[in-house]
Amino acid sequence: MNPNYDVIIIGLGAMGSATAYHLARRGIKVLGIDRYSVPNNMGSSSGDIRAIRKSYYEHPDYVPLLERAYHNWRELESETGTEILQLTGGLYIGPLNSELVSGSLKSAIEHNLRYELLTNRDLSGRYPQFKLPADYVALYEEEAGIVRPQRAISAFAELAKRRGANLSQNETVLEWKSEPSGIIVKTDKHEYSSDRIIFCGGPWTTHLVQDLGVPLVVSRQVTGWVQPSQPELFSSDIFPTWAMDHPEGEIYYGFPILSDCAGMKVANHTRGAIIDADRVDRNVYASDEETFLPVLRDSLPGGLGSVIEINVCMYTNSPDSHFIFDDYPGFDNVTLACGFSGHGFKFASAIGEALADFSTSGCTPLPMEFLQLSRFHLN
Ligand SMILES: Cc1cc2nc3c(=O)[nH]c(=O)nc-3n(C[C@H](O)[C@H](O)[C@H](O)COP(=O)(O)OP(=O)(O)OC[C@H]3O[C@@H](n4cnc5c(N)ncnc54)[C@H](O)[C@@H]3O)c2cc1C
Repeated sequence: MNPNYDVIIIGLGAMGSATAYHLARRGIKVLGIDRYSVPNNMGSSSGDIRAIRKSYYEHPDYVPLLERAYHNWRELESETGTEILQLTGGLYIGPLNSELVSGSLKSAIEHNLRYELLTNRDLSGRYPQFKLPADYVALYEEEAGIVRPQRAISAFAELAKRRGANLSQNETVLEWKSEPSGIIVKTDKHEYSSDRIIFCGGPWTTHLVQDLGVPLVVSRQVTGWVQPSQPELFSSDIFPTWAMDHPEGEIYYGFPILSDCAGMKVANHTRGAIIDADRVDRNVYASDEETFLPVLRDSLPGGLGSVIEINVCMYTNSPDSHFIFDDYPGFDNVTLACGFSGHGFKFASAIGEALADFSTSGCTPLPMEFLQLSRFHLN
């Protein structure tokens, strides 16, 4: 058997790599294991960019966690000298009573965030790129923008290793068990033991933890990169990161053109086909374009152009689309961070800290209670 660890982390995507970094900083003897490379394009943290925003339409309770995440992303940047967080401004568009606009407004007001509410006329004056129904308004926030998954995961992993973490790539965890002496983890290469274990397996979570008491549903999601017919309208100095409650009832989102990326990223946030993470179809079909092109056709005509690339990724959806951060039921030395439901990346820098807190002291000062499993059994 390999040497004993204080903590073993299964999965080194966004959440696992951030946790390894925070644990190693505290001098904890940590082993992180990933079945692929770190970073990789197989899990949910694939690709180059993710949106980050504070006026969180999903629920105001996320805002304090976001404040911590922003702080931690900036700290990671200053430790590495790498740009990870780029503010572009964020625009959340739809009818005033839509989930997107009313939810963003609620969070902004409740947490005293800086925002502007733009009327339909303000919106078409400031962002003529959009062609919108007359009842559409928008909430604009200056502090929204883009985070960089591959750079962030590389930075977390590199700093964790520098501080003594053992990170093993291309090694698959096959099973684990809890014994009076601790946790035993068996992989396709070795057997390890540790005092604690943390599951950050993303869409593969339920392959190793079956008894969550609630289902996690994995869905196939696609994102598109498009070369706009009028690229000059979409550079990041004049065009923000955006999300839109589309008249058809789906939420679309997109980004400006960035200096180091070819084209402009656009996607549909609606849940795609339900799949098993091991059997996701990574081939791209003509129908995949139709998940994101409608919003360009209808609402951003100058953005329509040739599709450069389509990527397949996975959401791990919890029953209420809110994250799950808790002990595994029945164990006090097994922690889970999963069910990020397509909006978790921006939080990784804070989730990693909270998981490290949990592992070292059994609790965290960060406000995580609303993400506990008990919420599913209260009704
Ligand atoms: C298309 C798309 C767009 C998104 N857009 C945004 C956005 O704009 N903003 C935002 O905040 N979030 C966004 N998200 C969500 C965000 O990317 C995810 O919530 C986040 O990346 C999840 O990270 P994770 O660490 O939980 O999972 P993953 O990154 O999937 O990491 C899990 C890791 O576990 C490893 N693993 C699994 N099983 C085993 C095993 N048995 N043994 C060893 N290793 C194992 C995997 O190899 C993988 O590397 C988006 C997601 C997708 C798919």
